[in-house]
Amino acid sequence: MVYRGRFAPSPTGPLHAGSILTAVASYLDAKANAGTWLVRIEDLDPPRIQPGAEKAILEALEAYGLESDEPIIRQSQRLEIYQEHLDRLIANDLAYRCSCSRSELKARMALTEYDRFCLNHPPADGTQTGVRVVGGASPSFSDKVQGPQAAETVSDFIVLRRDGLFAYQLAVVVDDELQLINSVVRGKDLLNETSKQIVLQQKLSFSQHKNYAHLPLILAKDGQKLSKQTLAQPVSTSLDHIRESLTNTFGKLALNPPKDLIYNDIIDIYRWGIEQWKLSKLPTDLKV
Ligand SMILES: [Zn+2]
Repeated sequence: MVYRGRFAPSPTGPLHAGSILTAVASYLDAKANAGTWLVRIEDLDPPRIQPGAEKAILEALEAYGLESDEPIIRQSQRLEIYQEHLDRLIANDLAYRCSCSRSELKARMALTEYDRFCLNHPPADGTQTGVRVVGGASPSFSDKVQGPQAAETVSDFIVLRRDGLFAYQLAVVVDDELQLINSVVRGKDLLNETSKQIVLQQKLSFSQHKNYAHLPLILAKDGQKLSKQTLAQPVSTSLDHIRESLTNTFGKLALNPPKDLIYNDIIDIYRWGIEQWKLSKLPTDLKV
């Protein structure tokens, strides 16, 4: 099986040290496994997109020497594909229209343990609704960094939002399948979404088995996630900065780079990182 991985940033802001860590780690893991590494732009949520952010992200990746092995795809150009999969879920009674607001749902959840109100009381035609997929059992799996993850029962969750936007879950699951991604290396903030994504893979009868590796987040000393306001400054794309940033990132990724690595060409810095790479050595959390 040929390794296929991806880095999938949302253009909600420029890349910062945390997103560079994810990009570099997913790249090293792909290349250490003689694999293919793809870049995908997750731009499905127009209100959150920052003008110019995609361009800044792509320029930063280029400056860092992180080149997608295949043409970059953008989720905003794949809405028909997501719609086909959504239609298939509805046609197979695996998803249903739901008009509940978050507060209505919360109120109903408090009354009944497992709400399927709109499944049993379909909203009238013409009502603005989202679409909720029927949840189910998600098996245990072993995360390559975070370790064993327990099986869980996933509640029904939104795949089309009431405002008409496709939910992240649907787009990610469909894209990973169609792009034949079999190794998902991403930030630990997405670990809790994995069970939902596995359930959705099952509902869509996707067969591609995936390995998951959820990378440590760079946390502040108090254990809180770094916010964009605190340390998460956009990365500089000057060559000297990139050399320094790469060797720093290697250090965070438990690679113990020698002090003089910084004086090498970027391509040789990566070559060293790929040779040393060991996913199993990564810490589960990172404090700065
Ligand atoms: Zn509902």
